[in-house]
Amino acid sequence: MSAQAPTLAIIGGGQLARMMAQPAIALGLPVRLLAEAEGVSAAQVIADHVVGDYRDLDTLRKITDGCAVVTFDHEHVPTEHLHALAEAGVAVRPGPDALVYAQDKGLMRERLAALGVPCPRNAIVATAEEVVEFGLPCVLKTTRGGYDGKGVWVVRAAADAAGPFEVAARTGVRILAEELVDFRRELSAIVARSPSGQAAAYPIVQTTQRDGICHEVIAPAPGLSDALAGEAQSIALRIAGELGVVGILAVELFETADGHVLVNELAMRPHNTGHWTQDGAETSQFENHLRAVMDLPLGAPTPRAPWAVMVNILGGDTPEPGRLYDGFPHALARDPHLRVHLYGKELRPGRKVGHVNTYGEDLDDCLARARHAAAWFAGELGDESE
Ligand code: ADP
Repeated sequence: MSAQAPTLAIIGGGQLARMMAQPAIALGLPVRLLAEAEGVSAAQVIADHVVGDYRDLDTLRKITDGCAVVTFDHEHVPTEHLHALAEAGVAVRPGPDALVYAQDKGLMRERLAALGVPCPRNAIVATAEEVVEFGLPCVLKTTRGGYDGKGVWVVRAAADAAGPFEVAARTGVRILAEELVDFRRELSAIVARSPSGQAAAYPIVQTTQRDGICHEVIAPAPGLSDALAGEAQSIALRIAGELGVVGILAVELFETADGHVLVNELAMRPHNTGHWTQDGAETSQFENHLRAVMDLPLGAPTPRAPWAVMVNILGGDTPEPGRLYDGFPHALARDPHLRVHLYGKELRPGRKVGHVNTYGEDLDDCLARARHAAAWFAGELGDESE
């Protein structure tokens, strides 16, 4: 075995790449980063980085030159560039033939339907008339380019469809209509899969969104029956296998009022709903992503405690530079078991700048501690709340 492990290229300098850097250090994996700008979250911690445009094939070729494997912080690298890199001999993980189903919600729906995976009723629509024909109320989504609730509209009248179709006309993306699911709650299934086919499934978690952004995650989902949890895990493992996903696959699910699960969407990278694993599981999703893309044996996804809670820290409405760090003494002194993960981002209203994790025997205690700390960091609590 050579002394030096092969180099892993990561495209995209956000917090997911930053959090991949931590297990890369522990595993002794050299990492090279393509960052979208100097000083972005992951560029602060990965010394071997280049600033460039991930939409430019030459830039992608340069950054992956000499790397054994390339993986991603986001899903936006054009599919044809991924094919070009694969043809040039770089192991693209996840590969373009899988990743396209995380890039395009229309293709994802078609493929999942062909696999018989339960999804909300859906159709590609091109006009307001077709939306009415599909049935109102419904949800319209851009098939590509959406994130954190951007590119998702609840449509109750034909006139509401005008906005989405304007976006479609401007950007050239197709519009997907879905039934408005009356869900009991949202769940997430996270699995890791390696090229040799080994897979590991994390417990099914409950996720709460606020303004389209993941806000809070509870692991495992409280009160979820073993049968439904098993079904959700099987769905995720099956999708990972059938689509040939390598790395982490996150399957966002709706638990319906009548006790079924429907797939909402797929992400093929570490996911916000898996951040709890950094402290609440034996092997974090970031480490298992790296192990999977490097085709190393996966680590145990086993929880460390009966409950784990993650709460995102969003920039408050009155951002004060430095406030995030000012929160440290209070938050850390108040709760020595609190785990804090900050992304090195400036506070802006609504922007994800970090998260906190708690774990333990008592769910209410975990929730209270994590919520308090996140609110404190976000500047939502004043000094009187001590
Ligand atoms: P994004 O790509 O922005 O994450 P999603 O497709 O996950 O978009 O939708 C964002 C949120 O909108 C979901 O988490 C859910 O709360 C809501 N949503 C999406 N699709 C539906 C649907 N068919 N029925 C009801 N709510 C939906």
